[in-house]
Amino acid sequence: MALQAYLSRRIVSPLGVRPGALLIDGERIKDLVAPERVPSDAIREDFGDAVIFPGLVDSHVHINEPGRTEWGGFSTVTRAAAAGGYTMLVDMPLNCIPATTDVAALAAKRQAARAKCHVDWAAWGGVVPGNQREIEPLAEAGVRGFKCFLVHPGIDEFSMVAERDLRAALPHIARTGLPLLVHAEIPGPIEEAAKHLQGADWRSHATYLKSRPDEAELQAIDLMLRLCRELGFRLHIVHLATAEAVPRLQAARAEGLPVTVETCPHYLHLEAEAITDGATQCKCAPPIRDHGNREKLWRALREGVIDMVVTDHSPCPPTMKKLQEGNFQTAWGGIASLSMALPVMWTEAHRRGFSFTDIARWMAEKPAELAGCHTHKGRLAPGYDADFVVFDPDAESTITKDRLHQGDAVSPYVGETLRGVVNRTYLRGAIVFREGRFPQEAMGREFIYTKHEVSVHADSHLE
Ligand SMILES: [Zn+2]
Repeated sequence: MALQAYLSRRIVSPLGVRPGALLIDGERIKDLVAPERVPSDAIREDFGDAVIFPGLVDSHVHINEPGRTEWGGFSTVTRAAAAGGYTMLVDMPLNCIPATTDVAALAAKRQAARAKCHVDWAAWGGVVPGNQREIEPLAEAGVRGFKCFLVHPGIDEFSMVAERDLRAALPHIARTGLPLLVHAEIPGPIEEAAKHLQGADWRSHATYLKSRPDEAELQAIDLMLRLCRELGFRLHIVHLATAEAVPRLQAARAEGLPVTVETCPHYLHLEAEAITDGATQCKCAPPIRDHGNREKLWRALREGVIDMVVTDHSPCPPTMKKLQEGNFQTAWGGIASLSMALPVMWTEAHRRGFSFTDIARWMAEKPAELAGCHTHKGRLAPGYDADFVVFDPDAESTITKDRLHQGDAVSPYVGETLRGVVNRTYLRGAIVFREGRFPQEAMGREFIYTKHEVSVHADSHLE
């Protein structure tokens, strides 16, 4: 196959943002070179001022298949991903049936994924009470790490764990060398808060916010840091919502604990004060907190205490969002944002003076490291998969429902005017999204390379 050369004045690579050409040979990046160094026999395509980012990696999505495909399964979720500039997803072990808590369930997931994926994917395994003997077999079978909940997860097929269960599971997890991802909210402060909410107005987001206080996150994080110190496993805090936890996470890092932290676009964009009564499209757990908290999360990103930004894409049928009654108590908690996350993030990041390199680090490089696919994904460098996004960072557009690419799903971003448009997404050299369409057969596949695989990457030749 002929060499392809994709030129842009702004290629985002580990070297920074430079003019150059991305040389693609089949499914891999052959090199990055200066524009005048493009081989004469290469097929050229020039994107001009549009930015070329590495394909985004989302280590936190809920693909609800098998079992709840109507909520969003492999086909719809990976389409939304391609439309959003994502080329690699890592699927959470719950909301599908069976939950991914043993090797048979992982096999069912793989079977369900067959021939439906528009981008590449991999799986997290679940940790639930009593499944500690499944942990090493799941690791051997190719999960990228594990996920647990310290609070009821909102569905019944996946159980929360207490410290006792964690103590049974953690030695096994530590032996795999894989990370444990934790939904860090704990029941105590939530139960305490409920006592003071008798007769409260559940159409108000303020009521929902009071029902899940910062303290629930703080106590959960304290528990996990204590166990991490004692048992030495890789700890990852998912969807950090409270900025009050930042000092203790910073201290844990300084102490040398192997802890990483993510937050999500909705915590960095929305703010509690602006959520109107009944706007349950904004319900997620932990909840959207106030303006001051949001700004402190941005500061934590700037300081590197928060490592990455992932979507927690969690679609559901619109009826489950209870938009008619607007009840924050009974509505499903979850925000579907894969197709919108890059413009949401660029809108906010640009306003605060962040660069394309920051976006690439938060949304591609760091999630790839967490998921152990950083030898193939998350960067534009020789030897890596030819996964990339062509993004116009200067265009503005108003989000319409069809831009979500997820059927009739609900999103808090509809109607907003955001900065930046995803023009194209390439997966392993092939166009999987172009100006609103999906020109390729579903060519996504599972990322199943193991940590034993050795991969050597030369330096690129982009000065
Ligand atoms: Zn989640």
